[in-house]
Amino acid sequence: AKDAGRGTWRAYTSELTTAARNHLKVATELREAVAQGDLVVYYQPLVDASTGDIIAAEALARWHHSDYGWVPPDQFIPVAEETDLILGLGEWVLTTAVAQVASWRRQGLRLPRLSVNLSPRQLHQRDLADTVGGILAHSGLEPSVLELEITENAFLEEQIRTGGLLDQLHGRGVTLAIDDFGTGYASLAYLKHLPVDRIKLDRSFVQGLPTDNADLAISRSVAALGQSLDVGIVAEGVEGPEQAGCLADLGIAELQGFYFGRPLPAGTFTDFLQSGPRR
Ligand code: C2E
Ligand code: CA
Ligand code: CA
Ligand code: CA
Repeated sequence: AKDAGRGTWRAYTSELTTAARNHLKVATELREAVAQGDLVVYYQPLVDASTGDIIAAEALARWHHSDYGWVPPDQFIPVAEETDLILGLGEWVLTTAVAQVASWRRQGLRLPRLSVNLSPRQLHQRDLADTVGGILAHSGLEPSVLELEITENAFLEEQIRTGGLLDQLHGRGVTLAIDDFGTGYASLAYLKHLPVDRIKLDRSFVQGLPTDNADLAISRSVAALGQSLDVGIVAEGVEGPEQAGCLADLGIAELQGFYFGRPLPAGTFTDFLQSGPRR
């Protein structure tokens, strides 16, 4: 509506109002969904670039809405992040995924690592390390199974950089990964001071491989950064064999993307775990 010239402010305002109303509706319904158990955790594999073995799974939230069907996380995580709703949601995902890995373990299916996304707001909870420690203790899993993924922009927040919470989590044996690496605005200085175990190269730099020269240069630099800082690298969004081959050639150790497996519900992921190496 904004290009339609004079007199369109009314339409524009009403668009905004609709957006605000939708937002409120999503927030209300999401609150109910969390309470009623309408959220599900999906699991996407991360594989060893040289063997194709599954070395980890990332837990990804899904919302099954009675009217709209599956609502993707891009449409509800940002809403949850604006309120404390993300705290309950985040803890629920963590508890559910950790319990699932413990259950696989009891079935003789070993998954070396579980990745769970943490929102910046969760990192402001003073008792987060205790909460995480409690969930792990209850599951019987060793803390090193769990990796928490934090986006680069979280490090723009002073309190997260300096609050000591990341050290507390790391001190308990949980590992930490920087998510969507390369898309944020934070300076790289945090890599020097914070307990970072892994970097996840954002899929926007993987898309153009192997032909795009900028993507190639960036991926190569991140691989080198990982080597010199002794930090593991995962490439995200690997959709085809050419990208996978190129990333393996660059020395990137772990790959994640539709080429190796889409996010799957626990039941289907179980079959996936039983069926052995990918590609
Ligand atoms: P993310 O953490 O970067 O997760 C990876 C996203 O990339 C997932 O989207 C996954 O389905 C998608 N993806 C994986 N491989 C490919 C590929 O080869 N090509 C393409 N085009 N996409 C690929 P999803 O599940 O829709 O999640 C979107 C975002 O929502 C996540 O991005 C994460 O930021 C957020 N999110 C999801 N679950 C949670 C959660 O439990 N807590 C928090 N705080 N955030 C979550
Ligand atoms: Ca992630
Ligand atoms: Ca990511
Ligand atoms: Ca993301």
